[in-house]
Amino acid sequence: MRAHVIDALPAPGGQCIALYPDKPIYDIPAVPVCTGRELVARLLEQIRPFAPSMHLSQLVTEVIPQADQSIHVRTSAGLSFVTQTLFIAGGVGAFLPRALALPGIQAFSGTQLHTAPSLPPPGQHIIILGQSDTALEHAIALHQHGGCASITVIHRRDQFDANQATVLAFAALRQDHHVSFIAAQATGFEHRNNRLTALHLATTQGHPLTLPADSLYTYLGLSPKLGPIADWGLNLDHKQIPVDPTTFQTHTPRLYAVGDINTYPHKKKLILCGFHEATMSAHHAADQLRPESAGPLQYTTTSKKLHQLLGLIPDPAST
Ligand SMILES: Cc1cc2nc3c(=O)[nH]c(=O)nc-3n(C[C@H](O)[C@H](O)[C@H](O)COP(=O)(O)OP(=O)(O)OC[C@H]3O[C@@H](n4cnc5c(N)ncnc54)[C@H](O)[C@@H]3O)c2cc1C
Repeated sequence: MRAHVIDALPAPGGQCIALYPDKPIYDIPAVPVCTGRELVARLLEQIRPFAPSMHLSQLVTEVIPQADQSIHVRTSAGLSFVTQTLFIAGGVGAFLPRALALPGIQAFSGTQLHTAPSLPPPGQHIIILGQSDTALEHAIALHQHGGCASITVIHRRDQFDANQATVLAFAALRQDHHVSFIAAQATGFEHRNNRLTALHLATTQGHPLTLPADSLYTYLGLSPKLGPIADWGLNLDHKQIPVDPTTFQTHTPRLYAVGDINTYPHKKKLILCGFHEATMSAHHAADQLRPESAGPLQYTTTSKKLHQLLGLIPDPAST
């Protein structure tokens, strides 16, 4: 059996990557301490033999169970799948870029207002709002690429939540006046002929300022939105999906919910519990789909079949 993984984030890892990549986790069994990033890296290494297809930076928008028990799934990037089983591991919702709260500015979204790095046409005045690695790395990359009329990073404090090497590289460019930094907040904008032309700011000292703006990049963090999951007819209970705690199946056959998104008596939102739920639901789904192959539980230490799947010994089926 093969799996497709779909996530709104540009990289796998959910909360561990989006919310606490560098914080230590102390309660993963047999791993006394690792950061969120390290845990995800280890998990990706462990699943590599199974080669799941990753479809990132897109929302699952539609989940429609069919009369024949298959499930139709569609994403915001236009992909569609017909699957026999679906595992919803939607956590606290899809992590989406936090929008700039200036009324009307979203009209420029995708043309002059962006939430992901890109290379704008030459000669433009670029404004980057944010203080993360992405914000600073983008400013550095734009300078290295060359051709911008100006590159200005704006954040309310002259402090960055970024990798030390990136902060130092950005500081060097600032010192040489290749990029600018202003401690300020965006308060408004100007436009002419349907084009964004300038951004209004209030500096931390309270002074108003207007900067020319041809492209505006906002890296204001991510916020989880339950979004479409609420529309899939899953009988949500306080934004959680009720499941059978022995199989983690929802009230729809072959549709499972694991991890923080599900609810059952005495539920604990822990990574360890998510691993257990995923294991139990995967076994249940496999038994449903391939009843003829449902046999005794096999151990990775001793099972030849599992060693083949892990690529430790040749799989005669693939030769
Ligand atoms: C600061 C912090 C520290 C923590 N420390 C610990 C700890 O020490 N130990 C521990 O066990 N737990 C800890 N946790 C909790 C742990 O991170 C969660 O239990 C775990 O991440 C849940 O995993 P999940 O896969 O269920 O959901 P998530 O990690 O939330 O992942 C859900 C994913 O689904 C995606 N998604 C949702 N809806 C859609 C959609 N419609 N389309 C596409 N993608 C979608 C999201 O983008 C996200 O990537 C901590 C949590 C936080 C916030």
